[in-house]
Amino acid sequence: MEGVIAANLTAVRSRIEAAARGAGRAADSVTLLAVSKTHPAARVRDALAAGHRVFGENRVQEAQAKYPALREAFPDLVLHLIGPLQTNKVRDAVALCDVIETVDRPRLAEALAREMERSGRRPPCLIEVNTGEEPQKSGVLPTEADEFIVECRDRLGLPIEGLMCVPPLDEEPALHFALLREITRRTGLGLLSMGMSADFEKAIRFGATHVRVGTAIFGARGEAG
Ligand SMILES: *Cc1c(COP(=O)(O)O)cnc(C)c1O
Repeated sequence: MEGVIAANLTAVRSRIEAAARGAGRAADSVTLLAVSKTHPAARVRDALAAGHRVFGENRVQEAQAKYPALREAFPDLVLHLIGPLQTNKVRDAVALCDVIETVDRPRLAEALAREMERSGRRPPCLIEVNTGEEPQKSGVLPTEADEFIVECRDRLGLPIEGLMCVPPLDEEPALHFALLREITRRTGLGLLSMGMSADFEKAIRFGATHVRVGTAIFGARGEAG
């Protein structure tokens, strides 16, 4: 698998470079997160051996099972939490993750602020926006995003650096990418986490600074991730 994953990484990186170039952007303005959810630590090691360092996981528990040992071997590894965060997992998430991309509700924001105060660790955070206003999906509604950003940043003092979204599966993602970019512009945030295996090139055209790619690197997942 090591050869396959290395080849996939090379292919995805060159597609990122081409998309960035096409958009008049520097290739290094886009960070590739290799999304390793449901894949065993051995596959993450393959990616690390191929020189990759930035990863995304959906669940704190799964990340805890896989990443502490990997980080011991590769101290410069960077881990983003990209899935829903329960308030009872906040302490573990702050201890383990380098970026938390899924701040999506006041109770979670408050718990994060308390834990950062307690631990002194302040991983950068992104706010998840439910751009498709899908009832089953997490994220703040676009109409409530500005107020929530102000609340997190100014009242709670969270290190909010950007926004992330997961567009609806059955819709053209461009509208959602454009909306997320617009909200970052008007709120003065710098980071935009958007784009997955199926649409990361498009996300780069719309200004993505972080693309989250699982399947195109690690192959299909056996279960719904
Ligand atoms: C699983 C997941 C990804 C990666 O999806 P692929 O289609 O496998 O590239 C990206 N972002 C989030 C939030 C995910 O849950």
